[in-house]
Amino acid sequence: MASRKGLLLHVLSRLGELSFEERYLPMHAGRYTEGMWHEGGRIIVNPMPHIVDTVIHECLHEMYPKYRERAIQSLTGKLLKKLSEDELQAIYAAYRRKVDANT
Ligand SMILES: [Zn+2]
Repeated sequence: MASRKGLLLHVLSRLGELSFEERYLPMHAGRYTEGMWHEGGRIIVNPMPHIVDTVIHECLHEMYPKYRERAIQSLTGKLLKKLSEDELQAIYAAYRRKVDANT
């Protein structure tokens, strides 16, 4: 097994040789699909689950400024667990509109 630093350097060098695409990937077996590797060096990354997780988490901090980090993490987890694909996409779209309005 390569050292952590050696492995990281190898990942970084491979990253330069691969092609990346960002887009939504449908859920599979009730779980979010965060990425997909295709033979030949093409990787698709679905940023939505991580972004929506962060957006919900930070909105809850805004709504409940006195709650501790653990409580916010717990509420975030509860909301995300039952989030449908439509809800995920709606939150992501609302976030995207806000971000794009600032650029
Ligand atoms: Zn937090």
